[in-house]
Amino acid sequence: MHSSLTEKDLKVIKEVTLSLLEEEEGIDPEVAEKTVDIILKREAIDEEIAGELGVDPREVRKVLYKLHERGVVSFRKERREDYRYPVYSWNLDLREVLRRGLEVKERELEDVEQALNNDMSHPVFHCGNDECPTLSFEEAMEHEFRCPNCGEMLQEVDTTEERERLERLAEELKEEIRRLRELRDRLSGQGSD
Ligand SMILES: [Zn+2]
Repeated sequence: MHSSLTEKDLKVIKEVTLSLLEEEEGIDPEVAEKTVDIILKREAIDEEIAGELGVDPREVRKVLYKLHERGVVSFRKERREDYRYPVYSWNLDLREVLRRGLEVKERELEDVEQALNNDMSHPVFHCGNDECPTLSFEEAMEHEFRCPNCGEMLQEVDTTEERERLERLAEELKEEIRRLRELRDRLSGQGSD
């Protein structure tokens, strides 16, 4: 299975998979990490995973259900000799993980670039009080360069640092996207897994 993937590739795919669960509440992060470790390498039954981890199968299922909602795992109902009832065998779709991961990163990059092109390309004004809003040049002029909230003088905000931070972030995101695309192409080139 996945013969062309290195340990490093698997680590990247694992990180992307776990990042899809970041916003989820009620999931034990340790169970999530170990569950992903297992289904990253082979199809597995939830109860077997729970047995391996020494946790309640319900904790493992919570993780699997959420990943299923994200569309990156599929399951098969099976009959196994050891079990009186049908069991579910779970499979992580690595290509789908990469597709979803790329989608998220590309959207993030779009937002950062938009912020750089719009918000950061015009001067902004602020009074220095945290609770007060930031104003555009036109707005500041309208208020005769006094804060409409507290009445203090408005000063032009130096956005150099913020701009540099966003530029660095954009470069990081481009690098991650490049890496994920390369991995996706390599995975597709490999045929069925
Ligand atoms: Zn103010």
